[in-house]
Amino acid sequence: MLTVEQALSHVMEWAKPLPPRRCRLADALGLLLAEDVDADRDSPPFDKSLVDGFAVNSADVSGRDGWLTVGEEITAGHVPTRPLARGEAAPIMTGAPLPDGADAVIMIEDSRRRDDGSVSFPGATIAPGRNRMSRGQEMRAGDRLLASGTLLKPVDLGVLASVGRAQVQVVPGARVLLQPTGDELVEPDEVPGPGQIRNSNTTMLAALASEYASSAEALPIARDEPGPLSSAIERGLTGDVLLITGGVSAGSRDLVPSTLEALGVKRVFHKVRLKPGKPLWFGVGPARSSGPGCLVFGLPGNPVSGLVGFLLFVRPALRALRGCTDAVSMDTTKARLSSAFAHRGDRPTYHPSRVDFMDRGSKGLPTVEPLRWAGSSDLRAVAQANGFALFPAGDREHAKGEVVPVLLM
Ligand code: AMP
Ligand code: MG
Repeated sequence: MLTVEQALSHVMEWAKPLPPRRCRLADALGLLLAEDVDADRDSPPFDKSLVDGFAVNSADVSGRDGWLTVGEEITAGHVPTRPLARGEAAPIMTGAPLPDGADAVIMIEDSRRRDDGSVSFPGATIAPGRNRMSRGQEMRAGDRLLASGTLLKPVDLGVLASVGRAQVQVVPGARVLLQPTGDELVEPDEVPGPGQIRNSNTTMLAALASEYASSAEALPIARDEPGPLSSAIERGLTGDVLLITGGVSAGSRDLVPSTLEALGVKRVFHKVRLKPGKPLWFGVGPARSSGPGCLVFGLPGNPVSGLVGFLLFVRPALRALRGCTDAVSMDTTKARLSSAFAHRGDRPTYHPSRVDFMDRGSKGLPTVEPLRWAGSSDLRAVAQANGFALFPAGDREHAKGEVVPVLLM
């Protein structure tokens, strides 16, 4: 049976960045830019005023206390209809273009108006260029603003908007489909009948996936019958990633692996040496016209097993699909056990735990407390956790203060 590390390296071999495509700027946050973007024009596109005030020829003002004639008012979004005449001061608003003949702007606060309409600037000395931003001072047409491979932040979206890029080429997030399977399942808004339980996996996994994917869509529950299961999975293979829950273990109604293989999904591995979540199945569907084959994860049905499988394998894959180059290394920390913990088991075990990042001792590491937990169906205990402490196979007591790896949620 593969170790977690071996299984993960197989997943990552298949999880390559999705083909770039155009997307609306508003949808591009957090995505990887897949083209170089240059300025389409100078910015500012004209010599503009930086303040509300009067556009002047500095030679008319400096060192003089005289009165100037008030000229044409220039508001933002309008262009002057005539040049500034000598001896004239034109009221101008922030962001408006300076008229020809003006080389500076005096702030309105430094002006004095007279009833006859003239204006003076007592004591003002004004150098050419004052309160003016010249055309192209921020950027010149053709300047490289963002390089391909930039992870788009909110400010980058602003820069792209400023150069008219209402659409950009990006590496998109994956389109994830979630397929719950199991005769015993009913949806959360239904009342379980005898022998039935509610489908808790899909909502949780869709919420997790949506953090890393472009969409995460839940499909209706598929019954443990070959025909319906096959049709459901076939539909699921249209996504970039298909997360199937349940039906991957050794029971007589665990039909997912055989159904997948009959549909041409190539098995990469089945079963990983870990607890919970051993029966995990991973494979790759046939190539699609829209891109590479769907990555298919068959997660065990127990909610905590599915969760651990998601965190260990699906999360890094979703990151890699959207072009993240550091997709694996960001999920673990080391922490000191806050109390002794006896672990028994023949497989490495991910135990729901609470890391206290504020409690850093001599080694500078946070503490971690393994929580009371009733096993792979006990999701309630995990609601108190923010990670899973990893204990190696074997029966032994782990001492208080021992340093253990923690898979973070
Ligand atoms: P399976 O992997 O299909 O053998 O299911 C293992 C256990 O997980 C069984 O007890 C199932 O009832 C339970 N289970 C399967 N799917 C879900 C689900 N979507 N939500 C909650 N429990 C599930
Ligand atoms: Mg089942």
